[in-house]
Amino acid sequence: MKKIGLDAGHGLYTSGKQTPDGIKEWSLNDDVCDRIQSILRDYDCEIIRTDNNEGKIDESLSSRVAAYINAGVDAFVSIHHNAYTGNWNNATGVEVYTDRTPTEKDERLAKCIYNRLVEYTGLTGRGIKRANFAVINQNKVPAVLCEGGFMDSSADYKIITSDVGKQNYALAVAEGLIEFLDLKKIPQSSDTPATPEKIDVIYQVWENVKDKWLPDVVNNTDYAGNFKNAVCAVYANLTKGNIYYKVHIIGSKNNRARWLPEVKNREDYAGNLGQPIDAVAFRTDTGKTIKYAAHEKKSGRWLPAVTGYDINDRINGYAGNFGKEIDAIKVWLE
Ligand SMILES: [Zn+2]
Repeated sequence: MKKIGLDAGHGLYTSGKQTPDGIKEWSLNDDVCDRIQSILRDYDCEIIRTDNNEGKIDESLSSRVAAYINAGVDAFVSIHHNAYTGNWNNATGVEVYTDRTPTEKDERLAKCIYNRLVEYTGLTGRGIKRANFAVINQNKVPAVLCEGGFMDSSADYKIITSDVGKQNYALAVAEGLIEFLDLKKIPQSSDTPATPEKIDVIYQVWENVKDKWLPDVVNNTDYAGNFKNAVCAVYANLTKGNIYYKVHIIGSKNNRARWLPEVKNREDYAGNLGQPIDAVAFRTDTGKTIKYAAHEKKSGRWLPAVTGYDINDRINGYAGNFGKEIDAIKVWLE
């Protein structure tokens, strides 16, 4: 993981460093730094800020250097805005500085950022320059200082205080760093949204008037059953994963009312052919919510759909009312 030292020059209360109408240079620098950080959040790098993040302290230049050297960064960029007279004037343009004895890497980093800074901000390019700025004056780490336009320039002011201008400054630096350090984008799961997998429930019932299995039904596009003909057995599977289910048979002379054993998929069917059921319960191992509903033969109404699988939960543990035959069911996943 590459490390980057990023520095908003000065502090909020550093005197003199401001636009003629009182916008502090640190605020502008800090805004650009925040934007750089936000752009680079998607890349395989870590950013170490060397200024005080609230601007309250104007960190000394030596402590800023010590901070990024100690952190072992692979590159360092100090973000600034220029000033000429301090009163409104016609100065204009951007600059990138290396120290007076730049390494090859210093120069390459400067070029990566400078070319973009001129292009993206649309401001005049004043060149890649050299100076003994303490914050970049070392040869251990590739380091540059950027001046992104004049705070006291009637021409630059509008740009450097605008959202678009700040974003362009940030983009130039971030992309310059991406090129210089060959940063790679971290694959975002949101880049390729996983379309939730559709799983179908395919099921059929056996009914006791025609004494036969009715055709398969898929999900709740239809229901399985013939109204007025009691359901005796259920047979079901999923297009992916396993479905488990059981039925409750109505008591009769020869058969006490009871839950029959659970079955899985179409390894068996749930029910006894010829014995009407009054309740049914389904579950799956898909992680999706299964919903199912039973239609009461006598009342001719659909009972509320349920999602649970618990024979002791009359409300949401199964579909049906004991003692009342079911003549149709609906099952689907959500
Ligand atoms: Zn400055």
